[in-house]
Amino acid sequence: MRYLSVQKIPVIPLSAFVDHLDKKTPLPEHSVVITIDDGYKTAKSIAWPILKRYGFPFTLYVYTHAISRLPTALKWDDLREMQAAGVDIESHSVTHPLLTHPGKAMTRKDYISWVDDELVESKQRLESELGKPVTALAYPFGGYDELIVDRVRHVQQSYDGSDLRPLSRRYRRLDRST
Ligand SMILES: [Zn+2]
Repeated sequence: MRYLSVQKIPVIPLSAFVDHLDKKTPLPEHSVVITIDDGYKTAKSIAWPILKRYGFPFTLYVYTHAISRLPTALKWDDLREMQAAGVDIESHSVTHPLLTHPGKAMTRKDYISWVDDELVESKQRLESELGKPVTALAYPFGGYDELIVDRVRHVQQSYDGSDLRPLSRRYRRLDRST
């Protein structure tokens, strides 16, 4: 973070990057987007104070099954507090599976409905807990293929007309951990 600051590298919110993709809105040269995956407590206790100190916007991608459940995970109240302070919170599925590999034999129909549930239920839960549209998805483990992209498109078209944008790994260079 100090490097970004010292080098005066522009840190832009994810929404600015999405606008750039959709509407060709110009971006500052060499700008970066900061994202943090999973929703662990350390995102709030360690990363957030540092990002705040530098005034850098960032997106937190959470998988909803963990929130207020796993001891290492943030609680819904934490997410509401962070959102109220300007943090962008988006979807990282429900249970954080490798969507391309369900881990057990499934019929194609069951597989597709399992993928859809991971996408839709996460978006719905976040929207109901946080009261704002969820428009971005980070693939768990960065795993996707043609079928997964197709299901994200399907969800985005069928879900109340709102948008769920998959961001492929090539756009997420600062986030290598998960
Ligand atoms: Zn993850």
